Order: sequence, then structure tokens, then C-alpha cells
Amino acid sequence: MKLTMHCTGACKQLEILSLRGGKWRTVAFPGLFAMLEHPSKGLILFDTGYSPRFAEATRRLPYALYRWTTPVETGVHLTAAEHVRAAGYAPEDVTAVVISHFHADHICGLADFPNAKFICSQAGYDSVASLKGLAAVKRAVLPDLIPPDFKARAFWVEQCPEAALPAACRPFERGWDLFGDGSVTAVDLSGHAAHQIGVFLRGADGNPVLLGADASWSAQAVRENRLPSPPAFILFDGRQDYKRTFGNLVELHRRQPEMRLLFTHCAEAWELCGKEGIELL
Ligand SMILES: [Zn+2]
Repeated sequence: MKLTMHCTGACKQLEILSLRGGKWRTVAFPGLFAMLEHPSKGLILFDTGYSPRFAEATRRLPYALYRWTTPVETGVHLTAAEHVRAAGYAPEDVTAVVISHFHADHICGLADFPNAKFICSQAGYDSVASLKGLAAVKRAVLPDLIPPDFKARAFWVEQCPEAALPAACRPFERGWDLFGDGSVTAVDLSGHAAHQIGVFLRGADGNPVLLGADASWSAQAVRENRLPSPPAFILFDGRQDYKRTFGNLVELHRRQPEMRLLFTHCAEAWELCGKEGIELL
């Protein structure tokens, strides 16, 4: 199985908000997603990033508030579908999209993959499915980005077999084996969003890779055990859950300093974009 990272655009955010002790300067936050070329399950995406659909979904109030507070730079040439084509596939070839959570910057591309099943947490979906208007914007959810046939194509992680994770993943002990072969194991990373999931990918060298979505905004924050600034916690669904999940990541890094932790908005994961990719087991 091969993992590649791809960038769909970026927004701007204050560094001090994302990193305690950071500077009062705006930094670019990339919107990344991952592509997994699985030997028997085909092409799988982890999230889908931004697309011009973000502008469409935020044209009117109250959804425009999202666009005004988080200006996004993206384009047709940066969409997940274009990255799929550039990798030599058609969007129709994507068999599954694993959705970490339903914030707009992770699901803009869902509608571009007509044959994909949507693998996500049922509890996570249920917590946003009925949100509309201001209540949706407050949770960074844009209902128009969720395809109308979503539920018919959804595949809930909670229904996947539970599996013990290898010792290298401690303190994470159990997850959901998404494809029945141990190659991709989902874990609960609640906090940033309720029931957010990440996935451990089985590594070729016995060292797994974690796709951690938004459980941290950077690998640096985990290495240095620096939570986001207090005002940033307003953006999170669960303050205590965020701290618990973040603490688990810090512990994971302490035990396995060599493990790659790839987060959606992290500059280090961004550097992997356009590169060869990582061979996994
Ligand atoms: Zn998010």
C-alpha cells in the first residue's frame, strides 16, 4: 500500500491561536488529504480537503460568516479529484473516502467521487446531520457539502470489527479494522470535533503512520506538548476530550519518537505533497 499527501488549498490563521506561545502573525494553514493505493481495495482517500464548492456553499448568510472569518485560497486545479487524475486514476476509481470529521475543509470533495463509499463515525455523522444555519456555521459545518445520497453510501466505523493495535501505537490500544486486513485501523480522536477519527496505517518497517486529521494542528505542537491557545478551544466540540486526545498523542510520540504523525493542517505533512510517497505494508 502506498500513501501520498496532497494539498487542496490553504486558509490563513494566527499562529498564536494554533500554538501556545506562538507569534502574532498569520500563517498559511494547508488543507491536506491523503491518498492510499491499496493492493486489493483500490484507491482510498482520507478526507478530501477544499474545493471551489466551499465558495458556493458559503455564498449566502449565515454560511458566508464561515468564508469571511476563514478566507480560503483554492482552485479547480487543486481539488482532490484533480489530484486523483494526476495520479493516473479517474474520480470514479475511488472506492472509499474515510472522513475524519465533517468540518467543511475536509469534505468539499465528497461529491466528486460517485462510486466511493463514505467511511465515517455514525456518532460523528449523527452529531452534525441535522444542523442548519447558524448552528451549523458555529460547528464549521456546511450542509450543502454533504451529498444528498450520503446515508445510502455511508459505512459506519462502529460496524467494523474491533481490533487490537500493535504495541507501537500505545497508548492507543484498540481501533476499528476498516478493510479487514489490518492495513488501516481507525481510532477515536474526539475533541476537535465530536467523534473525530484518525487512522493508523501499518508501516513497512513495523512502524505505523498516523493520519491524525485535526487532533493537533501540527506535529511540532505534539512534540513540544504545546496545546492551542485558550481562545482556540471555542472552536472545539469538546475541550476536555481535546486535551485527553492531545495528551494521548504526546504520549504516543514520547514512546515512539520516530513515528510519523501527519495532520491535515501541518506544515511538515505539507512538505510531503508532490513527493514520491511512503510505502506501507
Ligand atoms: Zn476540523
